[in-house]
Amino acid sequence: MALEEMALDNIKYDDKGLIPAIIQDINSKEVLMMAYMNAESLEKTLETGTTWFWSRSRGALWNKGETSGHFQYVKAINYDCDGDTLLIKVEQIGVACHTGARNCFFNELVEQTNRENEVDITILEKIYNVIKDRKLNPKEGSYTNYLFDKGIDKILKKVGEENAEVIIAAKNINKEELIYETSDLIYHLFVLLNEKEVSLEEIYKELNKRHN
Ligand code: AMP
Ligand code: ZN
Ligand code: ZN
Ligand code: ZN
Repeated sequence: MALEEMALDNIKYDDKGLIPAIIQDINSKEVLMMAYMNAESLEKTLETGTTWFWSRSRGALWNKGETSGHFQYVKAINYDCDGDTLLIKVEQIGVACHTGARNCFFNELVEQTNRENEVDITILEKIYNVIKDRKLNPKEGSYTNYLFDKGIDKILKKVGEENAEVIIAAKNINKEELIYETSDLIYHLFVLLNEKEVSLEEIYKELNKRHN
């Protein structure tokens, strides 16, 4: 592969023959971990499509996941402006950290300020997943389970009602009610998607198709 070899010439190893590799989740964009590679581990990474590193403490190559099963499937590799750092975008199986954490960066040195203003943009997935979990493991007193028990007609009726409430709320000058009713509608739509076994991935795929 000539192109690959040309690019490989741009990679600069330090005086120990190492280069830091930042591992990023290609889907969530989360920074998962950092480890060192040498020329041989980069070669094996390109060869096998999973990440290989140089363990400085053990003085040996390791294939991430070799004992844990938590392999990283390489989707893309970038190198930085001056060629001394790699950014490897992967599909992570299980978790990246050997402690069991999803990523290695759970230690806080300087606490984030303005936590109050922080919004979790993965909240839609979280809600979808809670609904999915309720369907699999029904919970006493759960409104979601009440909807599933009543069945598709009840769920469709609720979607219709919330839809109408969004329309009514949109007539207000004040946007609070629209925000509230839109949240209601999204939740009930997610119950419907779960009832019909439509995954969020399928919706994401359709939206991505339109966006590109
Ligand atoms: P694994 O590659 O996940 O099978 O783990 C094998 C060994 O690699 C572990 O016992 C650790 O020594 C090391 N290791 C795995 N993941 C990490 C990580 N994210 N950061 C540092 N060391 C790791
Ligand atoms: Zn650099
Ligand atoms: Zn770790
Ligand atoms: Zn409502």
